[in-house]
Amino acid sequence: MEPKAAGMLYEGKAKIVYATDDPDLVLVFFKDDATAFDGKKRAEIPDKGRCNNLISACLFEVLEQAGVPTHFVDVAGPRQMVVRRLEMIPLEVVVRNVAAGSLVRRLGLEEGRELDPPVIELYYKNDALGDPMVNRHHVRALGAAEPGEIDEMERLALRVNQVLRPFLAERGLKLVDFKLEFGRAGGRIVLGDEISPDTCRFRDIETGEILDKDRFRRDLGGVIDAYREVLRRLVGDEALPGDDAR
Ligand code: UDP
Repeated sequence: MEPKAAGMLYEGKAKIVYATDDPDLVLVFFKDDATAFDGKKRAEIPDKGRCNNLISACLFEVLEQAGVPTHFVDVAGPRQMVVRRLEMIPLEVVVRNVAAGSLVRRLGLEEGRELDPPVIELYYKNDALGDPMVNRHHVRALGAAEPGEIDEMERLALRVNQVLRPFLAERGLKLVDFKLEFGRAGGRIVLGDEISPDTCRFRDIETGEILDKDRFRRDLGGVIDAYREVLRRLVGDEALPGDDAR
């Protein structure tokens, strides 16, 4: 399916959303721009958009097959996918299997410590406020989601974890943590946004090598090689960059 992009609806840090001639569908274009630390650190990473598009498409398909409703409809080109239009809920739902990043900074837990059961966190998506962590009472006060919707997002987030952990482990990847965003469509809560090395922490299951955006955050180098390696492990050597990526 190749719907005609009728006009830009929204431009974020890493993606642009375009309307299509079908009001229920939008086109998501994955940019090569990388940002971290609330946009204070920026760079362009050639080929990142393609990797994130194809990695997200693969993981959305795996989730759909496991019964998780996602917005994914079809890949529409190397850097773009067609998705169902959602009424987005302004929350980030983070699931953590291993202590890392802000959890380590905030609670002083040892980095790398296994978290069993997984930890779920909610953040309010608001750039001006720096995406503060919120609890379900705050979510109600903000009018962002109903209690039943919060329950459903948490249930789906744990289900995503349950499905993706073994899928990734079989491909030599440890799922440390990840961030999801949800929206409403047809009276249901549906998984939206992306699932990529920008929004997940992936580690090599044997060596612990960092294969995600932490390479960019921490200036470790080899950012695009890591993203390409994740893509290669998910879809095989056919994922090597094509002409448009060079
Ligand atoms: N994350 C994200 N977007 C954000 C914040 C976090 O995708 O705006 C992801 C991040 O990549 C990691 C998980 O959510 O996989 C947990 O992130 P953490 O709170 O540790 O954030 P950090 O402060 O390390 O960016």
